[in-house]
Amino acid sequence: MSRSPRTVRRAPFPGSKNGTRYHVHDLSPMKPETAQSASQENPVRSASKDLTGKTVVIIGAGPAGLTAGYRLLRANRNIRVVVLEESGCVGGISRTVEHNGNRMDIGGHRFFSKDPEVNTMWQELMPLQGKPSFDDIVLGRSISAAPGGPDPEKTDRVMLTRPRVSRIYYKRLFFDYPAKMNWNTLRNIGFLTTFRVAMSYLRAMLRPLPETSLENFYINRFGRRLYTMFFEGYTEKVWGRHPRDISASWGAQRVKGLSITAVLKNVFSKCVPRGRRKVETSLIGEFLYPKYGPGQLWEAVASEIEAMGGKIRLNHRVAQVRTQNGMVREIVCETPAGTVSFEADYVISSMALKDLVGGMNDVPPEIAQIAAGLPYRDFVTIGILVDKLNLRNETKLKTLNDIIPDCWIYVQDTGVRLGRIQVFNNWSPYMLRDPEHSLWIGLEYFCREGDEHWTRTDADWKEFAVSELVRMGILNPDEPVRDYHIEKVKKAYPAYFDTYERIDALTAYLDSFPNLYCIGRNGQHRYNNMDHSMVTAFEAVKHLLAGQPGDRNAIWNVNTEKEYHEEA
Ligand SMILES: Cc1cc2nc3c(=O)[nH]c(=O)nc-3n(C[C@H](O)[C@H](O)[C@H](O)COP(=O)(O)OP(=O)(O)OC[C@H]3O[C@@H](n4cnc5c(N)ncnc54)[C@H](O)[C@@H]3O)c2cc1C
Repeated sequence: MSRSPRTVRRAPFPGSKNGTRYHVHDLSPMKPETAQSASQENPVRSASKDLTGKTVVIIGAGPAGLTAGYRLLRANRNIRVVVLEESGCVGGISRTVEHNGNRMDIGGHRFFSKDPEVNTMWQELMPLQGKPSFDDIVLGRSISAAPGGPDPEKTDRVMLTRPRVSRIYYKRLFFDYPAKMNWNTLRNIGFLTTFRVAMSYLRAMLRPLPETSLENFYINRFGRRLYTMFFEGYTEKVWGRHPRDISASWGAQRVKGLSITAVLKNVFSKCVPRGRRKVETSLIGEFLYPKYGPGQLWEAVASEIEAMGGKIRLNHRVAQVRTQNGMVREIVCETPAGTVSFEADYVISSMALKDLVGGMNDVPPEIAQIAAGLPYRDFVTIGILVDKLNLRNETKLKTLNDIIPDCWIYVQDTGVRLGRIQVFNNWSPYMLRDPEHSLWIGLEYFCREGDEHWTRTDADWKEFAVSELVRMGILNPDEPVRDYHIEKVKKAYPAYFDTYERIDALTAYLDSFPNLYCIGRNGQHRYNNMDHSMVTAFEAVKHLLAGQPGDRNAIWNVNTEKEYHEEA
């Protein structure tokens, strides 16, 4: 793929047709750089191109956009950074939603990264806990505290270390996730089925199928029987397509080397000393988590950006990206107060590629068609507050009020639409107003923006979700629902179908605009976790500050290896 930026001559700024237009000097005065210069704080500064006085417009206040703004300002506080955000809050998909004193993480966001730069940024913003959390104290649980780290009972900006527990709920039984060949599994499925699973796995190993679809990809790695039990219906629930209609490369991206062999290796590796283990990232047993959910970290980044003189404009939906002579010149937003536009020297975009290109002028028809055809999966999550569930904690793990210990549960039954259940109590006790007497769970449904599920009323959603919980035996029919809240998340998952296979032509076209950078999850149409989105921002900022040398492959190539992803 050719990604060399074209050299173009800059042209005068085109006239704005209507609405308010912000010139760089309209963005209230930037704070002068303080005596303790950013160069001492940030190594990026040493290689800096001088962008003093230049305006960098960043589209999207999710992890990618905020990371870009933060890193730019850390390098040079005299860059005019303005972040335009469509919604009324920061954090994007990784936001925390507060409802009547209870907080929802709309996806269940583990903070885990193999990238040292990401970990450094997380910890400079939110240090690791040095004292136990509320539930650890009540339960007398020991934790691995960071010496001198903050006390979560007294401080808000603190990163907790949480045990990861997640299981599969299938036919009213809990299975380990990922599947493990242990007594629990044997007891649940019985010896006969276990034997059949083993036989079908053996058959798949001896006679692998051509990997022409995700279905065959799974069968080759798990055998047909396990595939039918745990992957077929669930995949269709998540993506709205049967695995036979999804390309095998999708599996390679998402399943990242996880197979029965990997699972067995993991079981046996428990006998090997820690330092010698190479653990598949989806099998990680602990993760970091901000005291008040993922959005707390992104709110902290947003405050830092503002403290360094950057502007964050909420309720600014970027509707048009005006280009002239091969440069992006003007960004036009729809806001509750009408249309406003911003001129830009550089644009860093984390908005969906489909919408970005849809808002650009003079796009060649074949490129417009690729962008318009990019598919997404949307998502609705329903927070439900109850006193108790009809599920007993049959594990040895201690929990407040002896609730089930899971952070999240995969629902594999195909008779219900429910995809996953989040138990916010177990992510952080501080997510709840009363963690000792209530359960605050998130019920996740995958759908398509505008379909019959997406458009249900909130009351309908609540009725529907509760009826599914009752049907699955998770909630007693007479259990009172104390509160609920619905969150709809459009374009939650960029999907790798349809015109995605021609995405290289689209990215090459976008790279032909030297002052445009595409970063982040939907901004690159890549199944990114927060850390991947952050790394795309690091790379874009490095490229920009270094005077834009060479191609942008380092930005586009983040997360192209078979790596760790959140599990849908
Ligand atoms: C269910 C689920 C679970 C997940 N679990 C994990 C996990 O455990 N760990 C992990 O690391 N990651 C997880 N992720 C992934 C994580 O949510 C994303 O990687 C991360 O939020 C991507 O950041 P981003 O900034 O690239 O995009 P986003 O978070 O999507 O942010 C983009 C921002 O751009 C704004 N925007 C879009 N269009 C416009 C426009 N036209 N004008 C202005 N603003 C616009 C949006 O409103 C949004 O705020 C999960 C995701 C989901 C859906």
